[in-house]
Amino acid sequence: MDSLETELQRARALDESELADAIEAIGFECTRCGACCKAESACGEDGESADEGGGAVVSDGNAESAETDAEPHTATVFPDEIRRLQAAGEYDFRDVARPMPYGLADGPDGPEGETFEWALQTDDCGDCTFYAEDDEGTGACTVHGDRPLICRTYPFSVALGGTSQPMGEAVDEEGMVRAHECEGLGRDISRADAEELAAALKERAVRELEEAIGVRDNYRPVDPSAGQVVVHDSEGAKRPDGSAYE
Ligand code: SF4
Ligand code: SF4
Repeated sequence: MDSLETELQRARALDESELADAIEAIGFECTRCGACCKAESACGEDGESADEGGGAVVSDGNAESAETDAEPHTATVFPDEIRRLQAAGEYDFRDVARPMPYGLADGPDGPEGETFEWALQTDDCGDCTFYAEDDEGTGACTVHGDRPLICRTYPFSVALGGTSQPMGEAVDEEGMVRAHECEGLGRDISRADAEELAAALKERAVRELEEAIGVRDNYRPVDPSAGQVVVHDSEGAKRPDGSAYE
């Protein structure tokens, strides 16, 4: 059996109560610091402005080629999650998502080539386009009720192949649960909140593996001409505006 299918079976068999136990043991309360919604360096920090630093990185759309440390926020969003976010705010596709930058080449007029999956759209600072901050610097998600699974479950992931491990290496682990960089780790969490997070974490692992299998099964190589970007997701090959690539 293919390993993605094996991992999907394992994801479907995850025990939510055990996941909740692990989340309780690690502990978590979001401080709304915004670190998981923003580019790695804030706009204007380290002598960089949006135009010279993060903005330039964002506009060329290639996080890998970033010469500064102001890499834009990059969080995977599934095709149906994009549609839900669009419907929530009557947004255009491009207001919500951008092609995942990894794998795209730097062309004369911007990124070009083939890539897999979508990332939440970013603003000129490289922050998630839905992130807002009040005068005290407290962060808020303007699409909280419709935010994607990756956001609903941050800073946790599960230790299964084919699932995403956000923001680098795990900093803590317990059973099947991994915890990633976040200042809210180690704080008390209620059982009800831990159970809610555990259910979302399991749902995300299943969805990520279903999506990965869909991408694999629907992948047809295309040969985009110069300057074109083609995104492969579980529904096939698409243009950056989400329309089908014929
Ligand atoms: S990094 Fe952690 S504490 Fe900060 S906003 Fe994200 S989840 Fe909350
Ligand atoms: S959708 Fe909301 S929670 Fe997710 S990265 Fe953007 S602002 Fe943060």
